[in-house]
Amino acid sequence: MRAYVFHGPGEAAWEETADPVLSDSTDAIVRVDAVTVCGTDLHILKGDVPEVRPGTVLGHEAVGEVVETGRDVRSVRPGDRVLISCISACGRCRYCREAMYGQCRGGGGWVLGHLIDGTQAEYVRVPHADFSVHPLPANVTDQDAVLLADIFPTGYEVGELNGRVRPGDTVVVVGAGPVGLAAIATARLLAPERIVAVDVATARLDAARKAGADAVAAAQESPEQLVADLTEGLGADVAIEAVGAPETFEMCTRMMRPGGRVANVGVHGKPVTLHLEDLWIKNVTITTGLVDTHSTPTLLRMAAAGRLPAAGLVTHTFPLDRMQEAYDVFARAADTGARKVVLGGPRREVVEATA
Ligand code: NAD
Ligand code: ZN
Repeated sequence: MRAYVFHGPGEAAWEETADPVLSDSTDAIVRVDAVTVCGTDLHILKGDVPEVRPGTVLGHEAVGEVVETGRDVRSVRPGDRVLISCISACGRCRYCREAMYGQCRGGGGWVLGHLIDGTQAEYVRVPHADFSVHPLPANVTDQDAVLLADIFPTGYEVGELNGRVRPGDTVVVVGAGPVGLAAIATARLLAPERIVAVDVATARLDAARKAGADAVAAAQESPEQLVADLTEGLGADVAIEAVGAPETFEMCTRMMRPGGRVANVGVHGKPVTLHLEDLWIKNVTITTGLVDTHSTPTLLRMAAAGRLPAAGLVTHTFPLDRMQEAYDVFARAADTGARKVVLGGPRREVVEATA
């Protein structure tokens, strides 16, 4: 098969590689029908995630059809259309029993496109299939479903739920990339008083407004002043960091009110200063987290009911074999206006219709 293989920082290619095979009785092999590129993949290519070994197929979000299952897989069968979660789960370890799948000790957690071959490929082996793929409702399209593999549960769980967003809150989302936009869209469901989006790119701020932000501010133009003005000088109830940079984390800690919360979502590759000399007196809560995807079944039901505003997040679609082009477009988002790029989909349907 062909797949997007990582060869070390700055180097990756769409190339021929071995087909995945069942290696455990709980594995499934899935044919990839739709797959996306994540901001985290860009971090990997920059060298921010050193545990990714050269030779690894990247990607941790996809929709596809199960083609083969190990003898102990119970919940899906060949022919089933499934969402591949960015988090795999053994379902048995202490963390899985507490729905903290991201921390799974039984061979799950974030493994796809990280510690084992991922989804930016024609086929992928998914370990612990029973707890790692979700059968898809027929009325949720591939393009909407693939957003539920990572960005929606991430924005919702690591952003809103960790940040304990409550009705009437002022929520600031710093970084309006796909994850920040998903955080904005899902924050709306929790009835905040207002959502403020901060980004460096004008195109992203426009997208933030469409996703539901009430006010937007360019990072270079004193967003802290805007948040102070909107909140009678107090600051935000919740600041969600969705960039993964020292300056944006620090900005979040400056923007929250006394008693407020900072929910860090961004993947950090560099040390960040925690200004306890300012924060010790402010009764603040700072959370960090890898997404668990425990909310995926809920989000899927909401998508099927038309209650999840995913429209507008996918800006570009490509056939699978134009992976490099998709990466280039996604990495130059400020110029290309890309939000989420999706590969596969229609091409696959055409191929099948004529087969
Ligand atoms: P992205 O790179 O597409 O988006 C980041 C956004 O931040 C962009 O719109 C960019 O313009 C903006 N930005 C950059 N520098 C900025 C600054 N100084 N001030 C304000 N905005 C700035 O990434 P994404 O896919 O949206 O993901 C966001 C972050 O979340 C990444 O760090 C990603 O690795 C991380 N992530 C974390 C988890 C988790 O489980 N914790 C899961 C998925 C993604
Ligand atoms: Zn586990």
